[in-house]
Amino acid sequence: MRATDIESDITEVLVTEEQIRDKLDEIAAQVEADYAGKDLLLVGVLKGAIMVMADFSRSLKSLVPMDWMAVSSYGAGTKSSGVVQIRKDLDTDLHGKHVLIVEDIIDSGLTLSWLLENFASRGAEAVDVFALLRKPEAAKVVVPCKYVGFDIPTDFVVGYGLDYAEKYRNLRDVAVLAPHVYS
Ligand code: 5GP
Ligand code: MG
Ligand code: MG
Repeated sequence: MRATDIESDITEVLVTEEQIRDKLDEIAAQVEADYAGKDLLLVGVLKGAIMVMADFSRSLKSLVPMDWMAVSSYGAGTKSSGVVQIRKDLDTDLHGKHVLIVEDIIDSGLTLSWLLENFASRGAEAVDVFALLRKPEAAKVVVPCKYVGFDIPTDFVVGYGLDYAEKYRNLRDVAVLAPHVYS
């Protein structure tokens, strides 16, 4: 994909790479303090959370185990179906763990509320959420979120792990996808 194509596919950069980096450092310091002495496990939700997990985990000063879960609720479209399917389950036993779910974005909240219930039933000591992005006006269910990077409007965004039909994940910033791309 050429640079000129990328420019015409996005209407606005919402969050820059630098803003993300600063925010991750800030939240990492909070997490270090909040989880001191606790058996913390980071759980990334594939595939959208790959970038935030890679950068956030390296912003932490201590060594922290991580695991991954793949769920799907979106398909190739831009609206959440609310039907959550496990594509790849955890490899870790959650008993006694303080789980911090690392998510790219909370839109309707349906995926995370399903995940929270699922993890709670597996014997975790605590389950909390860190979402890099959140769309407060799109919430269909309110998900308790311990750490939030940025609240954003309801536009469909791509970049920094977020895709449209598997494209745009490797954009460094978070940007609004131009409607002509998907309509
Ligand atoms: P939910 O609506 O269940 O909160 O969102 C489920 C998943 O849909 C998110 O974790 C994310 O992967 C994807 N998603 C939600 N909003 C957006 C968006 O604006 N852009 C992209 N690329 N994915 C989104
Ligand atoms: Mg996600
Ligand atoms: Mg997606």
